[in-house]
Amino acid sequence: MTADKLVYMFEEGDRTMKVLLGGKGANLAEMTNTGLPVPYGFTITTQVCKDYYANGQKHSPLLDEQMMHAVKKLESKTGKKFGDTTNPLLVSVRSGAPASMPGMMDTILNLGMNDAVVATIVESTKNERFAFDSYRRFITMFGNVVMEMRHSAFEEIMDEIKHKNHIKLDTEMTTEMLKEMVEMQKVMYKKETGEDFPQDPIEQLKRARDAVFRSWMTDRAIVYRRLNHISPEWGTAVNVQEMVFGNTGEDSGTGVAFTRNPSTGENKFYGEFLMNAQGEDVVAGIRTPKKVEELGNVLPKVYEQLVDIRAKLEEHYKDMQDFEFTIEHEKLYMLQTRNGKRTAHAAVKIAVDMEQEKLITKEEAVLRVDPSSLDQLLHKQFDLKLLKEAKVLTSGLPASPGAAVGKVVFNAADAKMMAEKGEKVILSRLETSPEDIEGMHSSVGILTARGGMTSHAAVVARGMGKCCVSGCDELTMNEKEKMFTCNGTVVKEGDIISLDGSTGKVYVGAIPVVEPTLSGDFATLMSWADGFRTLKVRTNADTPKDADIARKFGAEGIGLVRTEHMFFEATRIKAVREMILAKDLEGRKKALAKIEPYQKEDFEGIFSAMNGLPVIIRMLDPPLHEFLPNHEQKKEIEELSNELKVTPKEIQETITSLHEFNPMLGFRGCRLAVVYPEIMEMQVRAIFNAAISVSAKGVKALPEIEIPIVGNIKEYSMLADLTHRVAIETGAKGKIHYTVGTMIEVPRAALTADLLAKNAEFMSFGTNDLTQMTCGFSRDDAGKFLVPYVEKGIYSRDPFQSIDQEGVGLLMKHAVTLARGVNPNIDIGICGEHGGDPESVEFCHRIGLSNVSCSPYRVPIARLAAAHAAIKEKQKKK
Ligand code: PEP
Ligand code: MG
Repeated sequence: MTADKLVYMFEEGDRTMKVLLGGKGANLAEMTNTGLPVPYGFTITTQVCKDYYANGQKHSPLLDEQMMHAVKKLESKTGKKFGDTTNPLLVSVRSGAPASMPGMMDTILNLGMNDAVVATIVESTKNERFAFDSYRRFITMFGNVVMEMRHSAFEEIMDEIKHKNHIKLDTEMTTEMLKEMVEMQKVMYKKETGEDFPQDPIEQLKRARDAVFRSWMTDRAIVYRRLNHISPEWGTAVNVQEMVFGNTGEDSGTGVAFTRNPSTGENKFYGEFLMNAQGEDVVAGIRTPKKVEELGNVLPKVYEQLVDIRAKLEEHYKDMQDFEFTIEHEKLYMLQTRNGKRTAHAAVKIAVDMEQEKLITKEEAVLRVDPSSLDQLLHKQFDLKLLKEAKVLTSGLPASPGAAVGKVVFNAADAKMMAEKGEKVILSRLETSPEDIEGMHSSVGILTARGGMTSHAAVVARGMGKCCVSGCDELTMNEKEKMFTCNGTVVKEGDIISLDGSTGKVYVGAIPVVEPTLSGDFATLMSWADGFRTLKVRTNADTPKDADIARKFGAEGIGLVRTEHMFFEATRIKAVREMILAKDLEGRKKALAKIEPYQKEDFEGIFSAMNGLPVIIRMLDPPLHEFLPNHEQKKEIEELSNELKVTPKEIQETITSLHEFNPMLGFRGCRLAVVYPEIMEMQVRAIFNAAISVSAKGVKALPEIEIPIVGNIKEYSMLADLTHRVAIETGAKGKIHYTVGTMIEVPRAALTADLLAKNAEFMSFGTNDLTQMTCGFSRDDAGKFLVPYVEKGIYSRDPFQSIDQEGVGLLMKHAVTLARGVNPNIDIGICGEHGGDPESVEFCHRIGLSNVSCSPYRVPIARLAAAHAAIKEKQKKK
């Protein structure tokens, strides 16, 4: 579909038009209409980008027509003209997608520059150096972005001139040198592209525009979108805006600021600037910038105006803003604003503070914090006592908080490779660039020698929730030799260092870390969230320790105890193997009797940790071969043979007999209990006896016995009967409040949920198996093709991480309707990995589940996601 209006002047848009105008375009429009000083410009919509790709990288003829119309308007507003020899118009051409993708796409500055215009600018500014500096920057950007010439090729020209003239810094380049550079660049341009550098500004504009659209599909943009779940369908807008210059002399400058501290959330103006600098100089981390307060000493009036704008922006957007500004001859311009990326720590503080400042409501505060970002707050932190005793190697800027301990690597490729081998790595660079994005993602922490708090490394690390220390200027980084030196210490690839992203300190060696706690603003926000949510949150825990952690994080019960994990412990595996190798019922019972006391002890521990809260205990689930060695483990077989007095041949035969082509669809779950009821009897007996024994000590045990892999009501009924019989035999009946329920993991169970719900007292979706069996993807092998599947957009996310709502979700919804039709109050939960995924939690709320269960560290995430779901539903109804 092609919309009619493809180009919007800034004054025609507003902030609600993000999808069409991109975030940058929508906010430039909003600021323009709020009366803030924004240079004039227009936005080419994201629809144009979508159509461009849909039509084989071609535009509708309407586009050029509308763009030319906008150019005319821009010329009349600014009183300048493209290519004019008295008052030439120069513009910036920037990308701007609906979701912020910092540094991932391309920008071209100073467009409109050509041989005639540069001469005019020399004349009008009386600043020849500035004019030629602007021209050479434009040729570099145009050559690199539009013609895909190597950036380093342009740097080589600069280095050659510097070398010839015995100078080191860019700022030492004289006008003559810059002029020579422009000439050399043009020669190289012609040599590499076969054409002269284009002199017509309109041609420059069209080609720059299309290059920005193409940058939507660069590898780094694709990777960034994948990591941040941004749809490739959205497309980017292109913003064309009158240039203002921060590099016209010492009364000009450029900066980036946040209305509050994006790292800690503190309500303090926070930013950085550079005088006599252009465009991306601050963000690129090439020169270390100054703190924004210092602008008060340099240009006090401009600083005052900036402080005033800070207040206006927060009042208007009611959120922390991240904005860019440029000062041209003491006049301030706003170049962009957006909701600032922040650490989870800052997000929580800002949300709670803003509620207290009456800027936002409690509901809004809860919605302000992205549930998945809480992961950062739930990571381990340095042990403060040991941290004090540790020797600091050096300090940099505390760019993104957290505690990172890992092996140093010096490039993104090594980071990725080592992380894939399971190593924890810290990516250490002079400065990072967008190419490093995947390596940064693979690292536990990032360390840079250069760059400020708004450098690429800092911004991206905060967005990823990664610990980052930037601007460690005492470090001498040698990326080629894979080492750095600092105050006499040499650190090489593979050496372990520790980073404290909250203080900016760097340590050699590993500093021990401790469990995080839920307190302060975090606890306040979570209590607000609990006030909104209706979904209960439980945890998947197999040990009293995990149960305890989850309870501290607010778990309201256990949604899944996987009992098989207990069978693997060294003290029991022998008896388990004895049971499997036993030739008859008697032999199996003898072996099971050895396991039973351990099982009872396990359950006593868990009931005590969860005192008063319900605990779902699942009966043995995996296929039995998982407990035996495999054919190749000759030594283990030998040992087993000696211990159990069974011949190695017999063991080999049992291994062979248990072999299955599809073990996950095989002899597992309730099928084991149907064939060997004595196994489940032992487990149930251990549960009831444990409950009775802890009750005697005043602990309230609430066991919920769960039968896995059920597909047929008869399987369920048979095993529920077994449970009730054991309850009578152990004396638990009437004494212990217990329930019996089923997992819904097999599509047949979902399709017959009404039959199951007549008998079962609770149900829990095992979405790991349900996804496997519904999509037909082996959960153990699908990794090989799911990454390309997601990249190609066949599934928007890995269905084992986030519920496939269209397929598996539909089945779940159907099962809930069937079950509630016969048993309206039946408790229905979810305990697959999806129980800790915010999107899936919201889905579970929408289809009316009673609870979600996830790993202990994800409990706060699920609590917040459940609150988001409830608030959004309420808002929708209004
Ligand atoms: C499931 O299948 O979703 C589940 C929780 O069980 P498991 O992962 O142990 O198979
Ligand atoms: Mg399962």
